[in-house]
Amino acid sequence: MKAGAAMLKRFKKKTLSNFPSFRSFAEESPHQFLSGKILTSTELPIPVKELEQLEEQSLVVKLTSLTQSRGTWQCHRCGTYLPYFFARFPHAACRKECVYCRNCIMMGRVMECEPLYWFSPLAIWKKHHSPCQWEGELTHAQSNAARRIISAIEKREELLVWAVCGAGKTEMLFPGLTYALKQGLRVCLATPRTDVVRELFPRLTSSFPEVKIQALYGDSEEKSGSAQLLIATTHQLYRYSQAFDVMIIDEIDAFPFHNDDSLKGAAQRAAKGEAARIYLTATPRKKEKRRIRHKQLPAVFIPLRFHGYPLPVPTLKLIPTLRSRLSKGTLPTSILQRIYTQQTGRRQLLIFVSTIPHAEQIQEILSRRFLVASVHAEDPDRADKILAFRNRELDVLVTTTILERGVTFPSVDVYVIDAGHQVFDEAALVQIAGRAGRSHEDPYGDVIFFHGGKTNAMLEAQEAIHQMNRKAKKQ
Ligand SMILES: [Zn+2]
Repeated sequence: MKAGAAMLKRFKKKTLSNFPSFRSFAEESPHQFLSGKILTSTELPIPVKELEQLEEQSLVVKLTSLTQSRGTWQCHRCGTYLPYFFARFPHAACRKECVYCRNCIMMGRVMECEPLYWFSPLAIWKKHHSPCQWEGELTHAQSNAARRIISAIEKREELLVWAVCGAGKTEMLFPGLTYALKQGLRVCLATPRTDVVRELFPRLTSSFPEVKIQALYGDSEEKSGSAQLLIATTHQLYRYSQAFDVMIIDEIDAFPFHNDDSLKGAAQRAAKGEAARIYLTATPRKKEKRRIRHKQLPAVFIPLRFHGYPLPVPTLKLIPTLRSRLSKGTLPTSILQRIYTQQTGRRQLLIFVSTIPHAEQIQEILSRRFLVASVHAEDPDRADKILAFRNRELDVLVTTTILERGVTFPSVDVYVIDAGHQVFDEAALVQIAGRAGRSHEDPYGDVIFFHGGKTNAMLEAQEAIHQMNRKAKKQ
C-alpha cells in the first residue's frame, strides 16, 4: 500500500478541489478530511464515476477489500484472517452470496465485491505558534518524562512511558504535543477505552483551545476524523493508513488492544512509516517488559504520583461465603457493615464487581440506603452516571472493569467484590487500586479486595504496588 516517493510527488501537484463533489465539501479542506483515510464507497460523499477519475489521476488508490489465498480470506481494512470472522450474506446487487468481514463490522460492512479507497496523506497542517494554554506546572519526574517524549517526537522514535496510576500522564504529554503542533505535525492520541477518550477530550480542548481537536469513538457526535489532533479509540484506526506523524497510544496494556493483533496492526498502519510512536501505561504486560529488558524498547519510568504520596496498598479480606452469597443475590453482612461504616466518612465509594448481574444486584441492595448507580460497557447512560458520580450526586458507583482505568474521581475508597474472579488479573487490580487517592486534597484512600480465596493476581498486584512505592521512595 505504500505509495512510492515519485507517486507522492505527483499527488501533491494535483488538487482535489478541481473535482465538482469536493467544491461543495463541508470540510474547509477535502485534503484534511481524506488525508490518510481508508474508506468504503458508502463512506465517501463522492459518486463512483468521480472516484474512478480520481483514481486515473492517482489521487486515490483503489484496494481490494477482501482477498482469498489458499482458502483463507483476509480483510484489508482490519487485517484479520481468522476464518470465523468471515461470513456470507445474500447481496441483491451482485445476485449472489457475498463474503463480508465481521471483525470490523462496527465500522460499516466491508464486502468482497466493494473496493476500499485509500487517500494519500496530502493535507498540510497548521504550524501553531503557541498552542498550549495550560498553566499548571510539571513535577520534576513529569518534566523528565516530558523531555524524553519531546526527544522521541523529534527523532521519530519509539518510547514507552511507564507511569504509575496518578502520575499525571496526560500533562506529561503537553510539552510533546506542543512541540509537534508547532512543527505542523498530525497527532493521534489513541486508546482502547471509550471512557478514556471521553475523559481526555475536554482536558485537551481546554489546554489547547486554538487547535482543532476531535474525539472519535463508536457513538461520538463527531464522525469526520479530520482534525490535526485526533483522540480516538483504537478501533477507529481501521480507517487510517499512514495518516499520522505522531502516534500516541494511551493504556497500551488495556483490553481489547493488548490481545488483539488486528488492532495492533491498525495502530501500526495508521502511523506513517517514519512516525514517532509513544506508548503510555501504568501496568505494562510481559511482552513490553521483556522488550525493555532486552533494550529493544526505550522506556522512561515514573514511580511517583504527581502529588508525591505513595500508592494505596490494597488490603485483602477473606470471606469464605462470598461466592455462595453472591449467587443467591445477596451480600455478606460483613461487607454490608463495612460499606455502612465507609459511608459515614466523607469519601465516595467505587465498587468493582466481576459481572453485570452482580453490578445490578448490588446496586439494588445498596439503593435502599444510598444514592447509587451501576455501570457496565453496554449501559447507554454510562457517561451520565459517571458524570453524576463525579459531581457527587451519587454516594456509590458499582461498576464492572470498564472503569478500572483512565477515569479520575478526586476522593474515593475502592472495594473489589470477588477479587479472585478471573476478570481481575494483576494489571486490572493494580489499575483499580490506582483509582484511590488521586487528588492533592485527599491523597489517601482505602482499597479492599474482598475475596473467597487468594489468587496469584491479587498477590502480584499487591507486590507490584509495594515495589512502585519502594522505587518512588528512592527517588
Ligand atoms: Zn475487517
